[in-house]
Amino acid sequence: MDYNRLAELLFPNITELPEDIEAKYPPRQLPEGAKVTRFAPSPTGFVHFGGLFPSTVGERLAHQSGGVFYLRIEDTDAKREVEGAAEGLIKTLAKYGINFDEGAILDENGNICDQGAYGPYKQSLRGHIYQVYAKQLVREGKAYPCFTTEEELDELQAINKKEEIKNTDWLAQAEAKRAEMLARRNFTIEEVEEHLASGHPFVLRIFANGDPERKLKFTDLVKGTLEIPENDEDFVLLKSDGIPTYHFAHAIDDHLMGTTHVIRGEEWLPSLAKHIQLFSYLGFRLPKYMHIAQIMRIDENGNKKKLSKRDMGANMDDYTSMGYCPEAVCEYVMTLLNSNYEEWHMKNSDKPYTEFPFNIKKMSISGCLFDFAKLNDVSKNVISRMSADKVYDLSSEWAREFDQELYEQMSANPDYTKAIFAIGRGGKKPRKDLAVWTDVRPYMDFFYDNLFKIKDQYPERFDKKDIKTTLCEFVKTFDISDDTNTWFEKIKDIADMLGFASDMRAYRENPEAYRGNVSDISMFIRIAITGKENSPDMYSVMQIMGYDRVVSRINNMINLL
Ligand code: GLU
Repeated sequence: MDYNRLAELLFPNITELPEDIEAKYPPRQLPEGAKVTRFAPSPTGFVHFGGLFPSTVGERLAHQSGGVFYLRIEDTDAKREVEGAAEGLIKTLAKYGINFDEGAILDENGNICDQGAYGPYKQSLRGHIYQVYAKQLVREGKAYPCFTTEEELDELQAINKKEEIKNTDWLAQAEAKRAEMLARRNFTIEEVEEHLASGHPFVLRIFANGDPERKLKFTDLVKGTLEIPENDEDFVLLKSDGIPTYHFAHAIDDHLMGTTHVIRGEEWLPSLAKHIQLFSYLGFRLPKYMHIAQIMRIDENGNKKKLSKRDMGANMDDYTSMGYCPEAVCEYVMTLLNSNYEEWHMKNSDKPYTEFPFNIKKMSISGCLFDFAKLNDVSKNVISRMSADKVYDLSSEWAREFDQELYEQMSANPDYTKAIFAIGRGGKKPRKDLAVWTDVRPYMDFFYDNLFKIKDQYPERFDKKDIKTTLCEFVKTFDISDDTNTWFEKIKDIADMLGFASDMRAYRENPEAYRGNVSDISMFIRIAITGKENSPDMYSVMQIMGYDRVVSRINNMINLL
């Protein structure tokens, strides 16, 4: 076969050679050990929580090593393309600390543009480049055309699928497939000419020389050493519209763009033999690979399942409406990604996660478990360490979009709201009431007269008369300028007066001797003021609410009783 002639027939308009392209993509000048990583999504208008994993790892490894992290838009599947999806994706990722040095970025008008010398970074704009390498592979007898239309292929696949279900004789099936492939390889230049003259489209296939009986030894930086069978499948490099498949684009783009570490989901692991073969055919140096385990969840029956698109927590846009702050989500992702993150964090709680020395060796091989309870735990810690001002800023920004009524109350008097957020904040053991901004309303709505409701009733076991007396006595002596001790002494006095123990130790030793204790008395006051049995420290609450509001709440309750 005259492969040069074949190449000319298939790609008459391609005049450049791979070396011409290579000259435009010189090796990057980076310090020793600097990693070049990329995130290479196919934007569908949906950023999956799982996407935060390879992108966070890529971002950390590049930026930790003085390297480059870039974004490549893999939009070769026109059927899946969604208008504006790439723009949305960039914005969403930026929220979670995934910022790119290079690649597809947003300009000041919010439109996608290229930044960097290794573009274009959108695969749909790289058609010519793929063709140059495709032509070279044909010249070298490593790829060949296959004049089967896409419809025919679909049909064939459908038949094969049906056959597969019926046919349990796998050996016969494999043989049939092999025969089909060999028949495809068997063509003459004249046949190709005829097809082209009749305008038939073709796909370009690799001439696979692998023997699956032979195993490749391969080290994945996450999965460890693997043995994978060589590839013997003539997989498609260019589809009939000239657009590359993922495999072909991956090899060419990651080579030209100088990627040192390919970080991607483990669903690509079965294709690895194809990629190794392709890199070798093209004469490219193989990058390092890191295949990241999928995110799992526990379903209703206690079984591990993949976190799929429809599951709660899968769509990154939901995190905003659920009221998670990105900082917390990032930290949670770190706890899932690196098994020693939490230990480091305990010792360095004042440092941002970006200072954590991310370690590939501490990554989970088998899959991380997504768990809202754990995320909430992490989030409570993150928010508890924020200043009251910051909590105010973030939560009111959220409320402005998602809880207008709360926003109006919060922002009507920012100092008042900030004082509420300051309760129990700043010390060694800060309060951990808030995991998500949706927690703000139930936690502190009672501070605002317009939102205040009595949520808890007085427990039946108490005599209404005692409650009423407590409230009346409290109002009588209440002085907003009392310090916390004086204030509490007054509450104890009421306890003594009503035969409730003011000394908790005495009460515990002999509960029968009392009608209750001082914490019950506090609760009588607490429900009147906050409407709830549980609330932050009552002294602080009253100090913030001020004299008038406290007294009016108590009086209202007295009238209700
Ligand atoms: N476009 C591929 C995907 O979204 C990228 C995989 C890779 O990172 O190479 O799965």
